[in-house]
Amino acid sequence: MTISIQRSHNGALQSYNVELENVTLLSVLNHIKTKIDPTLTYAHSCRSGVCGSCAVRVNGREVLMCEYKPKSGDCVEPIRNARVVRDLVVDSGHVERFNRTGSAWSEGSREESVKAEEMERIETQSDCILCASCYSACPVYAVNPDFIGPFALTRVWRYVNDPREQDASAKMAAVQTNGIWDCMLCGECVPVCPQGIAPKQDITMLRTKASVMGYQDPNAATAFGGGLDFGSPVF
Ligand code: SF4
Ligand code: SF4
Repeated sequence: MTISIQRSHNGALQSYNVELENVTLLSVLNHIKTKIDPTLTYAHSCRSGVCGSCAVRVNGREVLMCEYKPKSGDCVEPIRNARVVRDLVVDSGHVERFNRTGSAWSEGSREESVKAEEMERIETQSDCILCASCYSACPVYAVNPDFIGPFALTRVWRYVNDPREQDASAKMAAVQTNGIWDCMLCGECVPVCPQGIAPKQDITMLRTKASVMGYQDPNAATAFGGGLDFGSPVF
């Protein structure tokens, strides 16, 4: 097969011919690196879809190299919205930064056992492998680098929804600016997640919870000239 890979030293696609079929993209890249071009640079670790370090884009869609099986004609690029270190390696430090911004951790939680059904409510969100594919796909993060973003907001919902969390008010306050109300609910972050996490739905749940806690969508207030006015009742 022939695949093209985005190189960083010249900003161009480079084609490679390999005699491999029905193997993962990671196997193909390992073959290229050891047999054809030792300068090709990419990141990987666990080789089993657990560490999240090998996310790239193939034909414009985010995949894990250790899970995706390439076909001839594929175009491989680094994930978007992250600084390219070299070739397919990007700096994913923004994920950790936004975890801090959103206070996405357990804080002041009650020391008591949790029922299995209560853990099921937050199980999916706990499965994130920090691959940053959702940030790569997010059109809001693409234009606003301060947007807390899909993964970190999902994680905030995981802790807000944790039955041991005694007070979610600090977390909810932390996601009001560049957070839940800035998401356009496009859903682009959902199909790219290798773990089946749906940040859009989690952000929707955070919005509902925020409304119950007395927060308002600032964009809605702006759109209606600074205050909601539904006019006079019609009889
Ligand atoms: S649903 Fe929200 S977080 Fe997800 S990609 Fe769209 S704008 Fe980004
Ligand atoms: S939510 Fe999914 S796509 Fe986003 S970083 Fe976590 S595992 Fe990756």
